[in-house]
Amino acid sequence: MKKIIIIHTGGTISMLENRETGEVNTTNEHPLTNVPYNFSDDVMIDEYIAYSLPSPHITPKHMLELAKTIEQFLLEYDGIVVTHGTDTLEETAYLLELVLDTEKPVILTGAMRSSNEIGSDALYNLISSVRVVLSPAAYSKGVLVVMNDEIHSAKNVTKTSTSNIATFQSPQFGPIGIITKESILFHHQLTSRTAYPVENISKNVPLLKAYAGMDSNIIELVYGGKPDGLVIEGLGQGNLPKETIPAIKQILADQIPIVLVSRSFRGAVQPTYAYEGGGKQLKEMGVIFTNGLTGPKARLKLLIALENTSDIQVIRDIFEKDF
Ligand code: ASP
Repeated sequence: MKKIIIIHTGGTISMLENRETGEVNTTNEHPLTNVPYNFSDDVMIDEYIAYSLPSPHITPKHMLELAKTIEQFLLEYDGIVVTHGTDTLEETAYLLELVLDTEKPVILTGAMRSSNEIGSDALYNLISSVRVVLSPAAYSKGVLVVMNDEIHSAKNVTKTSTSNIATFQSPQFGPIGIITKESILFHHQLTSRTAYPVENISKNVPLLKAYAGMDSNIIELVYGGKPDGLVIEGLGQGNLPKETIPAIKQILADQIPIVLVSRSFRGAVQPTYAYEGGGKQLKEMGVIFTNGLTGPKARLKLLIALENTSDIQVIRDIFEKDF
């Protein structure tokens, strides 16, 4: 018999709509407890409430605590489903991907409409996630996000719409599988995965987004907060306005790593442009380029990297060699 556990953390999938006011809020008991669905005779499903939080209240410390809870449960269970608010679901999924070292399926799911809203996707997504966990094909695929009949890798998925139930997309490579009435079909997977186990998340890593006319001011403000590292979502292939360069130089001179991703969600950052603030100059100055990650995910990876090492070259390798 397979044993799986559903870990609830909160979010809309745990909430109910007030029929009179239309407000959506948390409940005392999880509305999907005792999933009313007959999966198969030889499955035992347990449930555990880790948190009842809207996901904007979830921090990297909650994510790491959740990872440790999952590690404990994996000693006993064949797979895990985590229900989570959709706003920061992709960040929790990616942090779990970074720290968990397991071949067993770990699936995150959520809902865009609470359980008692018309057209709710809550129960449907939960049932789909349990079906994926039970599929032998879900082994060795890393942490997955299951929503709206699609399976996404934690690394590539992002919330693209504020309210549409088809919100979760992997813009660069698409979903890695789909869910049909009869089957769970995978068609590709990540080519490499490295786990970086950590005991704590204690570093200060802000994230900045570049914009036309950006100058050194905001970077100096961030520097004043004594960051351990900085992530910048740069422009296009990885360029910044030239007025940011003095502050960037100052931070790098202090041996504080700066990781650059692009604010474009497709393509790669690369040292193409040699003009002032262009990617070639940034790379020569020592900025670390990384690909396949959004700014928030690169920030989580830098938090994890900094728990393991303060050696800039090792941090560079963690980002540049693991695409
Ligand atoms: N604001 C909600 C949350 O992330 C949205 C959701 O769960 O879908 O908790």
